[in-house]
Amino acid sequence: MSPSIDEKVEPIYKEVLDRNPGEVEFHQAVREVLESLGPVLVKHPEYADQRIIERICEPERQIIFRIPWVDDNGTVQINRGFRVEFNSSLGPYKGGLRFHPSVYLGIIKFLGFEQIFKNALTGLPIGGGKGGSDFDPKGKSDGEVMRFCQSFMTELYRHIGEHTDVPAGDIGVGGREIGYMFGQYKRITNRWEAGVLTGKGLDWGGSLVRTEATGYGAVFFVDEMLKVRNDSFDGKTCVVSGSGNVSIYTMEKIAQLGGKTVACSDSNGYIYDEKGIDLDLVKQIKEIERRRIKHYTDVHKHAKYISKGNIWEVPCQVAMPSATQNEINGKDAELLVKNGCIAVGEGANMPTTPEGVKVFLDAKIAYGPGKAANAGGVATSALEMQQNASRDSWTFDYTEDRLRQIMRNIHNTCYRTAEEYGAPGNYVTGANIAGFIKVAEAMVAFGVI
Ligand code: GLU
Repeated sequence: MSPSIDEKVEPIYKEVLDRNPGEVEFHQAVREVLESLGPVLVKHPEYADQRIIERICEPERQIIFRIPWVDDNGTVQINRGFRVEFNSSLGPYKGGLRFHPSVYLGIIKFLGFEQIFKNALTGLPIGGGKGGSDFDPKGKSDGEVMRFCQSFMTELYRHIGEHTDVPAGDIGVGGREIGYMFGQYKRITNRWEAGVLTGKGLDWGGSLVRTEATGYGAVFFVDEMLKVRNDSFDGKTCVVSGSGNVSIYTMEKIAQLGGKTVACSDSNGYIYDEKGIDLDLVKQIKEIERRRIKHYTDVHKHAKYISKGNIWEVPCQVAMPSATQNEINGKDAELLVKNGCIAVGEGANMPTTPEGVKVFLDAKIAYGPGKAANAGGVATSALEMQQNASRDSWTFDYTEDRLRQIMRNIHNTCYRTAEEYGAPGNYVTGANIAGFIKVAEAMVAFGVI
């Protein structure tokens, strides 16, 4: 099972379980961070006196609201909306919105909790938050998505702002949805407030590289881990789960660095293409036609579509889970290691179960947890906020250079912190401790608020 939790931290974890019944994903995310914190309390007894861990585990504010909208048949539909404003020690709450039928408070809280430490690791002034809805965009018309987004923003607008809380996209929320929400915010508030949302279109306040950033950043992070081992992406066979925004730009950067992705997926199955995934085709199917990945084989007959298959059965040297939480279990992790996987970079949030994480750490492969490896997305959101604040827009190359440098810094911070705390090469320990200490220092400075 998962590593043990320090006896000083154990009662805090128990309290989280009691206070948040049934929120299993939130429990998992909290446990994973708390497992790293025992040695931190030894070095910093003031954190225990100030009850910093307990305070970090309790969101500053949680908003739950009704979202009524009318579908194309004229029927009134009702969804539930969430925004969890978790921690604003380092800056305005920052984090995406997820539209997916699985969304409930426990998912938003796990994501918001992870976001606190991820955002701290970027070194940029952003706090942690997350939101979303149980709305399922799949199969909805453009008009339905627009009316839903407008209704969602009709409530959310009063809680957000460029200095307060700055949402962006996540699963089910891309440029189209951000556009509808920004339009509604602008109309309701009568403010052209670019910094209230990130992931905006390039013509109206968006940043170059934001679309690519999570995927590119995850590949930069893995590249840094490989460099430590005197290795690189050149000639590596890779598997990238998912086929959404994170997955697509992960595959693009892997190809640019000389690697070959042979498999990607959606929630129905996966594609295996031994010649290397044709990215233009995936973009056409997913970004333009908004169809299922199985249509890849309509064009490339040599490729295989495995319906309901397990993508982690495909042998690879680098695995980049970029779909959703808990997509790699203990058995999948064992299979990956057995088949020669030497590096894992998490583009998704918490895609590996605790059993899977243990397998990767025990095998001593290069394992980059999501809160470090996928921080490039939110980091570039912070760069978008910088551009908005100075009413400027930067070039693609300059922005990508900033992203590469940020990912290098995150890698080095995690690596150094892991060594300092006696866990060399363990990026889980490094990311949790470094992210935590940054937030804890600010909270100590602010007193009990
Ligand atoms: N949803 C992304 C994440 O998980 C990006 C959040 C943002 O850009 O605010 O970090």
